[in-house]
Amino acid sequence: MNTNANVDPAELQKFSELAHRWWDPQSEFRPLHEINPLRLGHIDGIAALRGKAVLDVGCGGGILAEGMAARGARVTGIDLAEKPLKVAQLHLLESGLDVAYRNIAVEALAQEMPHSFDVVTCMEMLEHVPDPASVVRACAALLKPGGHAFFATLNRNPKSYLFAIIGAEYVLKLLPRGTHDYARFIKPSELSASCRSVGLEVGSVTGMTYNPFSKIYALEADTGVNYILHARALLP
Ligand code: SAH
Repeated sequence: MNTNANVDPAELQKFSELAHRWWDPQSEFRPLHEINPLRLGHIDGIAALRGKAVLDVGCGGGILAEGMAARGARVTGIDLAEKPLKVAQLHLLESGLDVAYRNIAVEALAQEMPHSFDVVTCMEMLEHVPDPASVVRACAALLKPGGHAFFATLNRNPKSYLFAIIGAEYVLKLLPRGTHDYARFIKPSELSASCRSVGLEVGSVTGMTYNPFSKIYALEADTGVNYILHARALLP
């Protein structure tokens, strides 16, 4: 592991402790299982995954990585937490899918193989990282010209504090307490600025909402809490 990596060990520890339950759809990872069809459809609709070289940054146990592989992409998944990666690797035996998993920092991979991917996804990860702009820069460097980047994270405002922390962790108990740190939430305007400064052109910002009464997740215009930002690497 790169010792200079842009990483908070306490964050990796949180995910490692729960890793054995990653593929249990009733576990702490239930929200990831439930949003997966939505985000997969969104990514595939924009980037047409079949046959594409895709990198999933902060892949964890591989829920998104496997979904993209199932849609015909050639997927590499990277993370810096050992246990989730082991779970991801083992789950391939069950699913029969093919994903190349590696324990490497995105910044290091960008040095090793720049301009190698048609699509880079980085979902529910930026809000756990000390320097998210550095991750965005590395993702941009990993894309081929014209390639697609998808970042999903949490907005920072009173509503997101209420929904993502008080609602999800304390009232509905969808997530363990302490999963998220409000100070690390990122406004779409901030993420867009990070993208533009490294040659990524922002295409769309799409909201991902959860209705606690119907228990239904949906993609829509309201980017107040969870959102997915799509950007493209500029052509030379
Ligand atoms: N992207 C996956 C998993 C999200 S959970 C999904 O949406 O299904 C967040 C993941 O980010 C965890 O696996 C955690 O280990 C990883 N992570 C946290 N900080 C990281 C860092 N600095 N570099 C790489 N991965 C990191």
